[in-house]
Amino acid sequence: MGIKNFIFIVVFLAAMALIIYNVRRLISYLMVGQKEDRFDNIGERIKNVLKIAFGQSKLLRDPVAGTIHFLIFWGFMLFLFAVIESLLQGFYSPFSLRFLGPIYSLITITQDIFGVFVIISVLAALYRRLIVHVPRLEVGHKGKMDAVFILCMILVVVLSMFGMNIASLAVNNFALNPYEVRPLSAAISPLLFSSNSSAAPVVYEICWWIHIVFVLSFLNFLPYSKHLHVLSSIPNVFFSRLKDKRNFLKKLNLEDENAESFGVADIEHLTWKQMLDGYTCTECGRCTAACPAANTGKLLSPRKIMVDIRKRTVEKAPLLIAGLSEDGNEENKAILEKHLVHDFITPQELWACTTCMACVQECPVMIEHVDAIVDMRRNLVLTESDFPSELNPVFKNLETNFTPWAFNWQDRANWAEGMNIKTMAEDPNGEYLFWVGCAGSFDSRYQKVTKAFATLMQKANIDFRILGTEEKCNGDTARRLGNEYLAQMMMMENVETLNNYGVKKIVTACPHCYNSLKKDFKQFGGNFEVKHHSELISEMLDQGKLELKQESTINKVTFHDSCYLGRYNGIFDSPRNSLNKIKGLELVEMKRNKDRGFCCGAGGGRMFLEETEGTRINVERTREALETNAETIASACPFCMTMLTDGVKAFDKADDIAVKDISEIVLENIK
Ligand code: SF4
Ligand code: SF4
Repeated sequence: MGIKNFIFIVVFLAAMALIIYNVRRLISYLMVGQKEDRFDNIGERIKNVLKIAFGQSKLLRDPVAGTIHFLIFWGFMLFLFAVIESLLQGFYSPFSLRFLGPIYSLITITQDIFGVFVIISVLAALYRRLIVHVPRLEVGHKGKMDAVFILCMILVVVLSMFGMNIASLAVNNFALNPYEVRPLSAAISPLLFSSNSSAAPVVYEICWWIHIVFVLSFLNFLPYSKHLHVLSSIPNVFFSRLKDKRNFLKKLNLEDENAESFGVADIEHLTWKQMLDGYTCTECGRCTAACPAANTGKLLSPRKIMVDIRKRTVEKAPLLIAGLSEDGNEENKAILEKHLVHDFITPQELWACTTCMACVQECPVMIEHVDAIVDMRRNLVLTESDFPSELNPVFKNLETNFTPWAFNWQDRANWAEGMNIKTMAEDPNGEYLFWVGCAGSFDSRYQKVTKAFATLMQKANIDFRILGTEEKCNGDTARRLGNEYLAQMMMMENVETLNNYGVKKIVTACPHCYNSLKKDFKQFGGNFEVKHHSELISEMLDQGKLELKQESTINKVTFHDSCYLGRYNGIFDSPRNSLNKIKGLELVEMKRNKDRGFCCGAGGGRMFLEETEGTRINVERTREALETNAETIASACPFCMTMLTDGVKAFDKADDIAVKDISEIVLENIK
């Protein structure tokens, strides 16, 4: 063993010891969190890793930044071979991966070609951060320096790899070894070195050491930087919610007699996965760039929520692990006296969230912001009784009238008078239960939608019933507002009613009801086949059960995607199909549509809260709708309809632009 090998082994062992220490430290912090089983369906989890982490599917939604990241990621994957080869040469200098034969050819040629792509991509990333100042990448001076430092390290690692390859060719008199294919290095080497150059072996050794030292330093720097995601992204994608459980909220165990509090006040109340989300945030800002609250001047930034979780974890977890109490020294006492909610994340931020899921949709590493936000709201409501005063009457009405508004529950089916619609109590044998929802039952504007849809079903001879006064609010509003106690009560009572009647198929015009009936009710024993009215209308038209007129009553229509219909449940096409079937109707899309649709501002209980910070979300969305020059804004959700109608009024366009539900547009256009 030469002196070079000896020095290398000392450096290598020290670096590895440090890496192991840091990884163990970070894992031990996660153990402070609550238990959560994320080990089911390993096959699907592996598929997610292949598609989202290795295929970079979410990043590629942004073609420029996605392609840059894709090239850096895959360049690095291939460079791992070069790194492994260099590291093994530290133990035994003549080592080479040439024994892999033709695979070695593939490794060497891709290193040569991808090396250039990585250099270009790193320079492009530096340009975007330092020259263009892409808004979503602006994360303060420290964050920027952190990113620039990492990018420079990557650059040095790749340049030193090229240096080694070019010098090694000169050492070999410009002859490539068997199976070695390095067209670029082979072309450059003679330009920089003469044959039998005495400088080449020295340059090789210098580049080799630079390469090794930077690779080991890079690995050890990661746990202390926001680039921890390099290590945690793949596990985070692996442990992310599977498709059939995505966009679910956890069921809170309210019967736990030992629970001192409910929801999340500090990191020890988060699950280990929520803490891993904090580690994994790359601070790329995609979530905040898509967030309707952040876009309209509210304090909320989903990126900050994740960064705060990470900061608080790193600050508090070591003290919890060491078993230190508030009686310790002043510094520890100050840390333990703080809380994640209030000291890092303010209630003002939490109440600004519309639970629209745009952040979750955009996050390339599958972070679940809405879970954490609602968990923190749960603590504010259930443990601290700290919520905006506007919610007092909402919770009260839900308890006494089973609807968020001050209507009498006995009037719930008044809209159906004279329509010859049977209730389940009168005859439970219909094909569908039409779940009307609170807005559909009580709101005078949305009652018209309820009647329009019921009329369509009657014209198509769909055999349906309603629950009438037995229907209660589905619990969505209470649940998203953090009042899990009230939400669970409503869901359980509704499930009991539905199961007593043996209901199998439900149709509803409200996406919030749809989402609750289909997903939330499952947690309480309600398993139903649920359809949104846009799906049933599309089916009725496809099957010829409804016959359209020859000419449309309206020309240009733009469709606003409800978050709970689109992003939550993937229903984008059904409403568009129905509109597209109407002859002469031109459907025009807003700038942000389908899974990138911009929220109306009413979800997550925001419908019942004042919006005093920044500009109004519904006004921002309406502005986008007006830019299409459509004469009608179509929606498929009662909350969206209210928000867009108010938005149109804010632009003083109520006489020119109509806001209609798709059922109304279809009803106008059938024979
Ligand atoms: S769910 Fe919507 S409003 Fe809430 S943080 Fe995410 S993007 Fe913002
Ligand atoms: S949460 Fe996801 S999208 Fe938001 S900054 Fe972090 S990594 Fe980017």
